[in-house]
Amino acid sequence: ISNELNKGTTRDIRTDTLMEPRLRVAVIGAGAAGLVALRHLNTVSSNDLSQISAVALEQAPHVGGTWFYTKKTGNDDFGLPIHSSMYKNLRTNLPKECMAFPDFQFPEELPSFVGHEDVQKYLEDYATHFDLWKDIKFHTKVDYIRPVSDEKSKFQTRWEVTTCDVHKLGQKQKEVFDAVLVCNGHYAIPMIPDIPGKETFVGQVVHSHNYREPNVYKDRTVVILGANASGQDIALELASVAKEVYLSHNKQPFPNMPENLHQRPGIAKLDPEVIHFSDGSSVRADALMYCTGYHYDYSFVAPEVGLRVDDNRVMPLYKHLIHTGYPNFGIIGVCKRIVPFPMFDVQAQYFRAVLTGVVTLPNEESMNEDTERDYRQRRAQGLPHRHAHDMGPRQFEYNHQLADSACGRRVPVLTELMYNKTHNMRKQDLVGYKKVNFCVSGAGDEIVITCTPR
Ligand code: FAD
Repeated sequence: ISNELNKGTTRDIRTDTLMEPRLRVAVIGAGAAGLVALRHLNTVSSNDLSQISAVALEQAPHVGGTWFYTKKTGNDDFGLPIHSSMYKNLRTNLPKECMAFPDFQFPEELPSFVGHEDVQKYLEDYATHFDLWKDIKFHTKVDYIRPVSDEKSKFQTRWEVTTCDVHKLGQKQKEVFDAVLVCNGHYAIPMIPDIPGKETFVGQVVHSHNYREPNVYKDRTVVILGANASGQDIALELASVAKEVYLSHNKQPFPNMPENLHQRPGIAKLDPEVIHFSDGSSVRADALMYCTGYHYDYSFVAPEVGLRVDDNRVMPLYKHLIHTGYPNFGIIGVCKRIVPFPMFDVQAQYFRAVLTGVVTLPNEESMNEDTERDYRQRRAQGLPHRHAHDMGPRQFEYNHQLADSACGRRVPVLTELMYNKTHNMRKQDLVGYKKVNFCVSGAGDEIVITCTPR
């Protein structure tokens, strides 16, 4: 589908061309999730002609969130912690054909696995295409959100949002909204595990959040702890310049790795110069990199809202999205191991449908029961507690459920096919799976995906 065809159809009317807006929504953040939230909240669809006026409150001076690459680490020019975790040579781990929002494609001339600058440009183009810029307040950091009882409100509660202008940190502003949709991402606050002797290690220590480029590790011996997407990717990148790389993880060993990339189990303890692994082996290392994930952070939400994070589980969230006690409070993007943009697209559609009444939510007790059922199913399937929002193969059924309940648009079949294909290719050849371009032909049940070397 060409991007041009998706623009401004008769079924896609901007709310600001209609009467006085009814519901005012604060969207926190203007990364991929915040942008797609604006796109759906501020557009009337054929399902409902209700009017919503949403504004995104974004602390940075740009859209894109984590895709906005900066060489800097630590704090930005305004004293705020750097949000992005992108590194210089990153190529996406999903092909553009899978990664894209369903109604806005990446440029054809780009390869399948694109760089972070291409994704950043893509998100800026998305904002332009759907006319979102005017609905974003930049340099606006959300400091506090608290519920305000209001019997006249459709949801009995409205939300007082306190923001500060990051140019002038002291200057606060308060505004009341009918609903809040949090889109603040969860790859900005490093998680560092407790390891005996952690403080004694004298080598360089960094979390992947602050990793930017490989040359710092030239001819050194580096241990990388954690082998999820970033750990795998950075280990391979460092192997091309470092003397030795030790990838410490408890997964099945990855096949066909470079000769100087060694795989070890988890770290048992640290000495000043030596890193000990749990199988009794050890290595004298110059540097240790934690690729150990990130913390969710909702510290700007008032305690009385009862939103809590329990060892990576965000509670109490119905469908990983809606606060079970406050239907007009949602969070987009909590789930992990997903195709993010398409999932954000259906989550935004669903939130809109809740606000406009297209979706009637069950009562709080039933929503909590549903959430517990989902959690217990995961535990029964062997997932640990901290994977309460893990999706992987579950994501497509979840996406379809949300889209269908919202009478919205489903995630395309192609997204799932491409996800599965990439997943299998990565399993077989972690080193080489990005060195191809995909070509898609046919449609419906007859989709054919071929790949050619890049
Ligand atoms: P973010 O992009 O983090 O945006 C959140 C926004 O909220 C930011 O702009 C931030 O400034 C703002 N914000 C936060 N707090 C506040 C506040 N209090 N007040 C105001 N504004 C606030 N996904 C893929 O699809 N393919 C990939 O290949 C891929 N690779 C990745 C590689 C890395 C290293 C990382 C970290 C992530 C990768 N992802 C990838 C996942 C990526 O996180 C998602 O694609 C997506 O960008 C997440 O968007 P988001 O809007 O939820 O969060």
